[in-house]
Amino acid sequence: MPDILSDEQRQFLQLLRMPVPGDPPPELTQAKTTVTVAGAVANRSIPAPSASESVPTPLVETSVPRPEPLPIPAEEQTPSFTVAAPIPGSGTPSPPTAEPLPPPPVPATQASVTAVEPQRITRIATLDWGDLNNMVSTCHACPLGETRKHAVFGAGNPRGSWLFVGEAPGAEEDRRGEAFVGRAGQLLDNMLHAMGLSRDKDAYIANILKCRPPNNRDPLGPEVHACMPYLQRQIALLQPRVIVALGRFAAQGLLQLDTPLSQLRGTIRQYQGIPLIVTYHPAYLLRNPIDKRKVWEDLKRALGIFAEQAPPI
Ligand code: URA
Repeated sequence: MPDILSDEQRQFLQLLRMPVPGDPPPELTQAKTTVTVAGAVANRSIPAPSASESVPTPLVETSVPRPEPLPIPAEEQTPSFTVAAPIPGSGTPSPPTAEPLPPPPVPATQASVTAVEPQRITRIATLDWGDLNNMVSTCHACPLGETRKHAVFGAGNPRGSWLFVGEAPGAEEDRRGEAFVGRAGQLLDNMLHAMGLSRDKDAYIANILKCRPPNNRDPLGPEVHACMPYLQRQIALLQPRVIVALGRFAAQGLLQLDTPLSQLRGTIRQYQGIPLIVTYHPAYLLRNPIDKRKVWEDLKRALGIFAEQAPPI
């Protein structure tokens, strides 16, 4: 068994605190770590807006090069994976103008929720980063606006080339108003580290829902419907080079499909012409650590797509 693990798999498993065959037992708790990253840095200016017409979803298989982290200058080796970056305020990226996207389909079985007015969607599609953040923080488009403590806009570098999309804030995120700061967030940071990335430099992290569903229940269709224009606008402003959808709700919401996660994984998807990789949610991995190996395959695929792309001019 130990012989079939490559060095990178072994490193990944160690980072995720999984037992590595032949190695001493891992720590039982998920302690916060402070680490030095040697990784591919992909900061770049926000490019001009791209056309936002829907593109068909090609199911492309790709070869995946080994994700060897590139050496970076010492002054760029920033290290903290324990502190979520502040929510960006006004003055961050210049806003490309995007056509409003159609909202995702709403399952007919859901409870009554404020209808998403076309004017609201149109307005959201014109907002800059700061105004979008403000609108999210006071949003009452669905009942979650009454039960949340804080809306959670996102975290990370709004000029990063990577976008990771989760499901919805949990209790800790709701309390602090920051994305992925609980145990799942620590695991996500470990995943980023294994990829040679950090949320501070390379990645932005957002959710399908900006407000916590009570008791962490699954998002309802009308809540996704009401919240999706915010994420759509975030993506139009961010213009990430690769999107990683974490879990079923992120994948189905972005792709507007109700295909099971198991079928959405394994191929390169597209969101508005941006390559999108589907993988398991870190919270699922906390309960099902055996599937971390599959996640590493997904993340290697994402790194492969990223490496194949020409950097923006
Ligand atoms: N789970 C998510 O999907 N998002 C968060 O921000 C935290 C936990």
